[in-house]
Amino acid sequence: MKVTEHIAQANGNTQFSFEILPPLKGQHIKSIFDNIDPLMEFKPPFIDVTYHREEYIYKEQENGLLKRQIVKKRPGTVGICAAIQNRYKVDAIPHILCGGFTKEDTENFLIDLDFLGIQNVMALRGDAVKTETYFTPEKEGHEYANGLVKQINALNDGVYLDEELQNTSKTNFCIGVAAYPEKHMESPSLDSDIHFLKKKIKSGAEYVVTQMFFDNQKYFEFVEKCRKEGITIPIIPGLKPIATKRQLNLLPHRFHVDLPEALILEVIKCKDNSEVKQVGIEWCIQQSKELQKAGIPVLHYYSMGKSDNIQTIASQVF
Ligand SMILES: Cc1cc2nc3c(=O)[nH]c(=O)nc-3n(C[C@H](O)[C@H](O)[C@H](O)COP(=O)(O)OP(=O)(O)OC[C@H]3O[C@@H](n4cnc5c(N)ncnc54)[C@H](O)[C@@H]3O)c2cc1C
Repeated sequence: MKVTEHIAQANGNTQFSFEILPPLKGQHIKSIFDNIDPLMEFKPPFIDVTYHREEYIYKEQENGLLKRQIVKKRPGTVGICAAIQNRYKVDAIPHILCGGFTKEDTENFLIDLDFLGIQNVMALRGDAVKTETYFTPEKEGHEYANGLVKQINALNDGVYLDEELQNTSKTNFCIGVAAYPEKHMESPSLDSDIHFLKKKIKSGAEYVVTQMFFDNQKYFEFVEKCRKEGITIPIIPGLKPIATKRQLNLLPHRFHVDLPEALILEVIKCKDNSEVKQVGIEWCIQQSKELQKAGIPVLHYYSMGKSDNIQTIASQVF
């Protein structure tokens, strides 16, 4: 079922959903199931699976010269989605990127998803590869997520890259896109970011999932701004419980989000990471309860491969 249908069927109740990462190459899919199993009691209507593009690593050779190697550390997005749908009978949502994909790669990826009965996709641009400062699209790829949304939407109309194909099968993807209550790091302003968000919606996106935030006010203000701009589709909040002291620096650096002073002070007071985890859980429960009270249709948790804290939060909220 599509995300929009899940929301319509929930009759105003707030639903629980979460995102997982594929395991590092070499690990068993059991590690994924072990994280999902304890969360199934909260009846997620869908589970997102992130996509991780290739990275460049440089290895020194015997002659002392460096050799560039392309590695994909977390492959398996599509396989995990198929396994989730098969094992749990829950909709799995693969993330799909512009980065590293030509339009032809994208089309073939989407055909695989369609054949597997996957009905939702999260369309993203992706970040720059670690060794580059700015995002560089593939030569025959998309520069922005908007182009990707257009391609998916065209396939939903049966329009393939080879326009001479006759009697084509139409896909039926519900398309999600990303948004940033504290603005995307490259965007000159929040208004500019919302302007481009509107373009993704005009091109066919049917729901939005936000970057994590730790101050609900930022989310509420963002949603209000979007609504004033005529955006009417669901804006699903993304939530992440802080779990380590290191994340105080890492999360603002990696995701360009602010942490509220009160949360920072609580974390600094902690003697070790088990105390930090508890603070993160309490903070996220408060955030979740407030969002639930405001009638938000779905709360989406970033599990980052660990489900025990999400389980504790969900048991208090859902
Ligand atoms: C919910 C969510 C899930 C994510 N999942 C993944 C994942 O699985 N894998 C992964 O690698 N990354 C993931 N990301 C990170 C995401 O790929 C990065 O944040 C990326 O930098 C931007 O992606 P986007 O789809 O928002 O890009 P876009 O919508 O293309 O926007 C990128 C930037 O360009 C600007 N822009 C857009 N169109 C134009 C235009 N025509 N001209 C000028 N500027 C423009 C926007 O304002 C923004 O600043 C996720 C992010 C979120 C919020």
